Amino acid sequence: ALNAIEKGLNITESDASNSSVGLGGIPDENGLVTLDACIMDHEYNCGSVSFLQNIEHPISVARKVMENTPHVMLSGKGAYDFAIKNGFQHTNLLSTESYQKWLEWKAESEKKLPKINHENHDTIAMITIDESGHIAAGCTTSGWAYKLHGRVGDSPIIGAGIYVDPDVGAACATGMGEAVIRICGTHAVVEQMRNGLSPDEACQVVIERVKKSNKDLKDLQVGFIAMNI
Ligand code: ASP
Repeated sequence: ALNAIEKGLNITESDASNSSVGLGGIPDENGLVTLDACIMDHEYNCGSVSFLQNIEHPISVARKVMENTPHVMLSGKGAYDFAIKNGFQHTNLLSTESYQKWLEWKAESEKKLPKINHENHDTIAMITIDESGHIAAGCTTSGWAYKLHGRVGDSPIIGAGIYVDPDVGAACATGMGEAVIRICGTHAVVEQMRNGLSPDEACQVVIERVKKSNKDLKDLQVGFIAMNI
């Protein structure tokens, strides 16, 4: 299950035509592509990287954090140094297209942050279950386009971007990370399943919580996927 998460997410991380993940990701306000990712297995092991730059496969680095260190989360330069030490290559992730778009955005007088919605955003999150009943989840993103330098979203946060409980199931989130973090979104979905709700019902309950906890719903999109075991 864990290998499927890593290898599956690696495909999108290398796909320059997806401008919300890894290579070709839309940069932050300073024109830098900064990445968030995390992974969790069926034994409460988890690993995460946030604010990582110049590494094509943040989900694989997150897995190394999980498997090779006593920590859960590495961030920024520390995550980059760890990746290089573990054999990952320094890679320029800013595609010509994303750079051009960023230049156009930079030249605008208003410099509005684009909405995070299904028309212009495509973070990938994944849940897998294998023959032995092991469940795993992962998530990888370049985050909110033109975000403030240093912004970290929900995607590298265990309990927000993803959560796995081997006795219950797993959930992943996408959309406006700030709204997911505020309610510990995926942990909330898993807890609803623990209380007997189906994955569908659990997601609906937590979406209602998102609606209740945000005053302005106009440009807000949040989505969950969930699987029980
Ligand atoms: N959740 C991601 C973030 O806020 C974005 C997304 O899912 O598209 O960084």
